[in-house]
Amino acid sequence: MKRIGITTTVPIEVLMAAGYKPVDLNNLFIGSPERERLVSVAERAGFPQNCCTWIKGIYGVCMEYGINTVLCVTTGDCSNTIMLMEVLKLKGLEVLPFAYPERPDVVLMQGALEDLARRLGTTLDKAEKVKCELANARQLALELDGLTWKEGLVSGQENHFWLVSSSDFNGDYREYERSLGKLLGEVKKRKPYPDNMLRLAYIGVPPVFAGGLYSFIERNGARVVFNEIQRQFAMPAPGVSLAQQYSNYTYPYSIFGRADDITTQLRRRRADGVIHYVQAFCHRGIGDIIFRHAINMPMLTLEGNTDFTLNSHVRTRIEAFIDMLKRRAAASNKASAKSEL
Ligand code: SF4
Repeated sequence: MKRIGITTTVPIEVLMAAGYKPVDLNNLFIGSPERERLVSVAERAGFPQNCCTWIKGIYGVCMEYGINTVLCVTTGDCSNTIMLMEVLKLKGLEVLPFAYPERPDVVLMQGALEDLARRLGTTLDKAEKVKCELANARQLALELDGLTWKEGLVSGQENHFWLVSSSDFNGDYREYERSLGKLLGEVKKRKPYPDNMLRLAYIGVPPVFAGGLYSFIERNGARVVFNEIQRQFAMPAPGVSLAQQYSNYTYPYSIFGRADDITTQLRRRRADGVIHYVQAFCHRGIGDIIFRHAINMPMLTLEGNTDFTLNSHVRTRIEAFIDMLKRRAAASNKASAKSEL
């Protein structure tokens, strides 16, 4: 199968129906042991210092890891992708644009999917069959999510990794299914996290320092029970068709749809606080204003740039936030004990 790079989560069913193997360029970049070098490849080519690290990383992997064809999302993800697409064209790559509809509408989505299928030389009927083939892998990802917040058997890091990987199933959905199925069997034998541990939600784009973030939070007495966008990548509301599935997917559309999903999940998952991650130089950072308006709960906004591990400034802010939540929980427990007397 011919590899096709993707710049964010896209309807991979259509790509697979057309005989392509989708490769999430973000995951390829962040999983690479030479991330710094990939960023410097982009900077040497002229990408400015004040351009988001993910964009530079995507460019770096395209240049260094033999990606010849890329599907670029031009509406519903990132305005920088449009110029990235032009640069990739200049460098001789085959670039296909894909635009999510401006709002989550099944009819509009159906049209966008049909158009994509036609351009790739396949049909939506074939893509719907791939949807059925992927259903089990998606179901396992959502089962893992349930075991994270309902049973306390899965760490925030594992939850992040498996959900974020569902954008391309690490290039092999059967292997994804096999390894995740094995893990689910193992985690059911684990001792759950203590009930009294603080429960945090992580919202925003995936962090550049995922490797250290979740374990650091746990060492400070809290754990992540909700990874917002990563969960969306796994398609928690698949519906009966691809058009429904990708209309229910909240990320490409208005931030108010995301806020509704987030507030529902915060209640269900009994979150004590929220970490909103924003990437330096990303327009999505402005959405912090909307989230602070919509979410009635303590929120820490963390910004990441090119540090792939947690720096001391970020560590201190996380420690102080968790400390504040602990004091808040203790005060609330004391108040309820008093009212019971
Ligand atoms: S983090 Fe923001 S600026 Fe960077 S690629 Fe994602 S949407 Fe674009």
